[in-house]
Amino acid sequence: MKRDRDDTDFRGLKKMYEKREAGCIFCEIPDKRIVLEDELSYVIRDGFPVTFLHSLIIPKRHVKTYFDLSQSEINSTNRLLIETQRLIDVEDHGVSGYNIGMNSGESAGQTVFHCHIHLIPRRDGDVENPRGGVRHIIAGKGYY
Ligand code: 5GP
Ligand code: ZN
Repeated sequence: MKRDRDDTDFRGLKKMYEKREAGCIFCEIPDKRIVLEDELSYVIRDGFPVTFLHSLIIPKRHVKTYFDLSQSEINSTNRLLIETQRLIDVEDHGVSGYNIGMNSGESAGQTVFHCHIHLIPRRDGDVENPRGGVRHIIAGKGYY
């Protein structure tokens, strides 16, 4: 019987994607908090949101930063990022922009050392002058 199969052994890959760390909040998120998921990643609302519907896209595998992700995880988190953005657009018609952000490393402000992508919906007038956006992570350097 001809079938689209070969002898590739995927067991090592499966084991890699199962990596979790005890005590890590993003490895131990209760199912009821999950808004969206696929095999490799999931989405939750931030526990301390900077604004309504602030969401986190998180690979299930315990890795520290975006730079540790496999191409499959990059595809998965990106798909969920876009899907979450669409759902937020539907849920809140007042949303007129987004910031997408990652704090990679303590120097960059990371506090939870399991990779996550912040998706922050923005609304007209939510800050006095939004010009510069993520440039404001270095105080005083937002405007140019
Ligand atoms: P970081 O500073 O590492 O980029 O972001 C960590 C994020 O995780 C923060 O935005 C923080 O509000 C969020 N966070 C911390 N603890 C919890 C929690 O227990 N549940 C949820 N949903 N988010 C959390
Ligand atoms: Zn973890």
